[in-house]
Amino acid sequence: MQNRLRCSLFVLSVTVFANAKAVSAFPAPSGSLSATSAESALSLSDVQQEEVENWLASADGYYDTKQFSLAISAYLHAASILAQSSKKTDQRLLGTTYTNVAQSYKRLKERTETVVYYRKALAIFTALNDKKYMARTLNTLAEAERYINELEKALQCSMLSLRIHSEIDDPEGEAKAFMGAAIIYRHIGRYDASLEHAYKAYQYFKRVNAPNRIAKAANEMGLVYTRLMQFDNAERFYLTTIGLPTDKLEPRTLATALREMGVSKWHSSDYSTALNFAQRAYDIYKAENEVEKLSLTTRIIADIYRDSGQPKLAKARYEESLNYAEASGNKLNQTKSLVHLGELLINQSAASAVPLLLRAQQLAAEINDTAYLLYSYRALRKADKKRGNIAGSLAYAEKEIQMLTILKDEEIAKQMALSNASLYSRTLEMELNDLREDAKLSQLELDKKSDEVEIANQRKTIAELELTKNKYASLALALMLAVCLLFSAFIFRSFSAAKKRNAELDKLATQDPLTRCYNRRYLFDYLNEDFANPPLAENYSLIMVDIDHFKAINDTYGHTAGDKVLEEIAAILTHTVDDTGIVTRYGGEEFCIVLPTSTINSAIDIAHTIKNKVSTYKHGDIEVTCSIGVSSMAFTANTPSELIEQADAALFHSKHKGRNSVTSWNEIAP
Ligand code: GH3
Ligand code: MG
Ligand code: MG
Repeated sequence: MQNRLRCSLFVLSVTVFANAKAVSAFPAPSGSLSATSAESALSLSDVQQEEVENWLASADGYYDTKQFSLAISAYLHAASILAQSSKKTDQRLLGTTYTNVAQSYKRLKERTETVVYYRKALAIFTALNDKKYMARTLNTLAEAERYINELEKALQCSMLSLRIHSEIDDPEGEAKAFMGAAIIYRHIGRYDASLEHAYKAYQYFKRVNAPNRIAKAANEMGLVYTRLMQFDNAERFYLTTIGLPTDKLEPRTLATALREMGVSKWHSSDYSTALNFAQRAYDIYKAENEVEKLSLTTRIIADIYRDSGQPKLAKARYEESLNYAEASGNKLNQTKSLVHLGELLINQSAASAVPLLLRAQQLAAEINDTAYLLYSYRALRKADKKRGNIAGSLAYAEKEIQMLTILKDEEIAKQMALSNASLYSRTLEMELNDLREDAKLSQLELDKKSDEVEIANQRKTIAELELTKNKYASLALALMLAVCLLFSAFIFRSFSAAKKRNAELDKLATQDPLTRCYNRRYLFDYLNEDFANPPLAENYSLIMVDIDHFKAINDTYGHTAGDKVLEEIAAILTHTVDDTGIVTRYGGEEFCIVLPTSTINSAIDIAHTIKNKVSTYKHGDIEVTCSIGVSSMAFTANTPSELIEQADAALFHSKHKGRNSVTSWNEIAP
């Protein structure tokens, strides 16, 4: 990878020059630019010159009236004449004509042709050694490459553009190149570099007071912060855009900021403000007839209605969003709207949700979108469960698991995941045995499937984080080498940026976002590391805590209140344990605490303290209790899984005793 990138960057520079010769020699068969500038045989006749002027005038006219196909054919007529001359002025005009062709293709969303013509223009400016036009064309070419998903090439073009800009005096072009680089960096997940470049562009455009460009740079920074879930920072930038004079902004630039403000306010549950912003974005898209954006924005509005407890309004908006998605022919948007609509309907009428979800499933399969295929299976499973069709529901659970297995192939933290899954299925089998007599078999099988799905899901999230991290790490390395070739002074900076970013991702990969405890992955890493150096001391203990009847809290007070309770209980655990151990979120409302220097007796004491604190805790009207299981290395577990399993079995016993209690493994050990 490193070598490849270094070479390809070199190849790019070489091809730029090589192409230049090829293009400048076409269609006139002889001569190179330097040798022929004085030869009159290679310049245009007066008639030809007039023809060129006419073609270009009509092409510009077509372009201005948005008749891009006609513009392209007129530009190409002019280009075919210009290509017969090797005079510098004609060649430059040929270069800008190719740029215009590329821009027309861009407006037609014909991405591949856009790239082709920007490359032709670049070759000509390179042969002319016109640095300013080379740098500007490289930046637009970078954007075009990004559109066709050639991220590496885009990155190379963008880097070259920035390098040339650093040598010449074209501050506006340079600022645009900074913006270009910022967007590419965001697409490859290098958020720190993205922010840095967008900010440079922002500062320049502020200095020259170019409102729409300021807004674009501000939006870009907002988008990065939104990706990082730092909504306060994101909002600051969107509000910058919204605060600019509206008549100086392109409608869609303003609409982006309004829409994203809506999303941000929705995330902080400020639904009425969210709705207000999203609706303003909607009005703009409606006036501009931007059908794809209308589908997206209407879906956001529907989400807000759904989460603020207005299912009827939500339903109408999801339907509207679906209509726009169908009108634009965008199948991913159709799938998204169908899944959301279907999920909403499950509670009102599961039977009417099913056909919608089946359509979603079919579309997701068509466009090969694994994530949405998974979501549609999940929703179908819920719908069937709601309808009492346990067999159907089980079948979908199977499919879900299959899907997750496919996704799992990309996973890096395999070992942890496997021991996790086997441990979990063993615990579930224990429960299964107990309840078989009670004839609750089907119901429990179903629960088991949901739990497996949840585990697999968590594995997927972790794997994704790891992947991003690794992708970033190798990209950063490749970049370092490429940059080294061009300007070695940047190496140190890239390196420290990479380290910083990796540290952020490391943190993200070990933390549970809701409770800010450690996550499951961290728990297993931690235990595996300790178990790697046996024998472990006897005073190594582990506590499992599960909140009692937590489902009822969700059902009575809502999911948001449930989340709040989880957060606060996690804080109680963290405070109680302090630095005697680590608190991890093991599952939904289940926590696992490792106490590496506590005897079984002191672990039991800590468990009682937790139990008492939780039972006296109140969140408004909500009161909760928890059940606890304790185990320790004094009972000679051989693996992390075994230790957890002992605590889990003890916890299970606490539940059976009537909850709000503590059990130690040795009380129930066979
Ligand atoms: P028990 O006393 O037997 O433990 O009963 P329970 O209701 O607590 O147990 P059950 O496992 O049936 O339900 C756990 C519930 O926790 C179901 C799920 O909706 C909820 N839950 C899981 N994760 C979250 C979360 O992140 N937020 C909220 N609000 N609820 C969650
Ligand atoms: Mg519970
Ligand atoms: Mg539970």
